[in-house]
Amino acid sequence: MLGTLRRVGPWTGRMTDGENVADRLQLIDGSFEAGAGSPLVVVDPATGTEIDQVATASREQVDRAVAGARRAQKLWWGAAQQERSDAMHAIAAEIRRRTDDIADIVTRETGRPYSRNLLYVDMISNLFRQYAELSRVHGGRVAPSNDPGQLSLVLRVPYGVVATLVPWNYPLLLLAFKVAPALATGNTVVIKPASETALTTLVLAEVFHATTPPGVVNVVVGSGSTVGEQLVSHPGTDMVAFTGSTEVGIRIGEVCARMTKPAHLELGGKDPAIVFGDVDPELAARAVVWASFLNAGQVCTSTERVYVHDSIYDGFLEAVAEITSGLRVGNPFDSATQIGPMRNESAREKVLAQLGEAEKAGAKIVVGGDIPEGSTGFYLRPTVVVDVTHEMSLMQEETFGPVLPIMRFREPDEAFALAADTPYGLGASIYTHDAGLVGRAYEQLQVGTVWVNDPVVDNLAAPFGGMRASGNARELGLEGMESFTAARHVHWNLDLHNKPWWYGKDN
Ligand code: NAP
Ligand code: MG
Repeated sequence: MLGTLRRVGPWTGRMTDGENVADRLQLIDGSFEAGAGSPLVVVDPATGTEIDQVATASREQVDRAVAGARRAQKLWWGAAQQERSDAMHAIAAEIRRRTDDIADIVTRETGRPYSRNLLYVDMISNLFRQYAELSRVHGGRVAPSNDPGQLSLVLRVPYGVVATLVPWNYPLLLLAFKVAPALATGNTVVIKPASETALTTLVLAEVFHATTPPGVVNVVVGSGSTVGEQLVSHPGTDMVAFTGSTEVGIRIGEVCARMTKPAHLELGGKDPAIVFGDVDPELAARAVVWASFLNAGQVCTSTERVYVHDSIYDGFLEAVAEITSGLRVGNPFDSATQIGPMRNESAREKVLAQLGEAEKAGAKIVVGGDIPEGSTGFYLRPTVVVDVTHEMSLMQEETFGPVLPIMRFREPDEAFALAADTPYGLGASIYTHDAGLVGRAYEQLQVGTVWVNDPVVDNLAAPFGGMRASGNARELGLEGMESFTAARHVHWNLDLHNKPWWYGKDN
């Protein structure tokens, strides 16, 4: 076992008590190893300084991780149902026991406030518990058979080895969304974390090492273009479960299509919010500000554009501006902090470029838009923008930062048309008490989730995923379990007797 991570101070101290955990980051077929590939640097987004260097996995190590996962899959799927369930309960308990270690390092690597990260640790532990129990009752079905004396069994069988690729914004949660249902249904996994959050995944690797048989969960660290590509195109991986950008998702989908390998893609978003005229503008403003600036706007389901009914526009904008100006931006380890830094410089530059282009085309920044004076790291002040049009990249492309553009509408038709006017289809939120408008939203918007009066909330029991440029997968709920299985039909004639259409001397 590796040394236990100790609570890291805000900006000081080494991460471990003496041990260089980064040298032992790969979990391959039940053993920790140093990476044999070139090192990558993990940077603290709140200071811009190096946290540690991580030796990445070599091609040979990735091959061994896949081979280990293949061997383990036969045993894991062949084990008693209760054994799998018990191991998953052990994972849930171990995650809970390691809460502080996990919340510390994920805060350091993502820049998200510590208090939020505590909630996510709780959530992933609950998710493993949920799938531990569902694995005991989830199964196939018996379909009506053609004739008497037959059974048509519809089995749900695991694909085999799942290559699991996740981004940095929710390195634990999005990993658990895949690993928990994959294990519950008899698959094994090889995980490639995002380069920015490799160390967070180390703690989870320790959890899996302590609770699951060798090879059931493997972790290999490295860049998307090396380790990621190798895992996706590897003949030994049977399915790819990916969360990340639409651009990389399309690339992965192409590689998988050539191999007829299932590709489960959770991609980018440009989620709209529609605020109708019948709600309290101040309350709606609170909800929208939260949905836009949570995690510095780096949530795939962040509210990225808001359409507000003319009748409450002024009151809504005033409240949004006031709440946003008062947001406490700062050190993610400080309990008063509401908004941390963005994850990296290139992401911040992309946001500033979108804002610059929008301003040039006539948009007006009402609050923020600047880098807080004297800040280190990748901070950007939460930003509210008005006078935007749908020709601007700010209203078409994913921003993935703390920006909230607001437009006015007069008729519901106009709002629904604007909401539908991007290539994405992840989620949408609406604010109203009018059941007719709610019905219209869930019948007409081509998205995976519609939130009504309570945005950006996950329910572990209900499916999550996107449509169109936001991907093709569903995670969580029973649907998330089905995603990691193929249906296999067993057509069983209970005894062998002649059929009139068989070739032979009588026919
Ligand atoms: P990304 O650049 O697409 O990377 C995601 C993961 O894929 C990382 O582990 C990355 O490795 C890896 N990767 C990159 N290129 C690859 C390749 N050619 N082959 C295989 N793997 C490759 O995404 P990101 O910038 O980290 O994350 C932000 C994006 O994720 C946003 O678009 C956001 O909307 C989306 N997202 C979607 C959901 C959802 O559920 N729909 C949830 C969260 C985030 P490296 O880190 O080494 O580059
Ligand atoms: Mg990336």
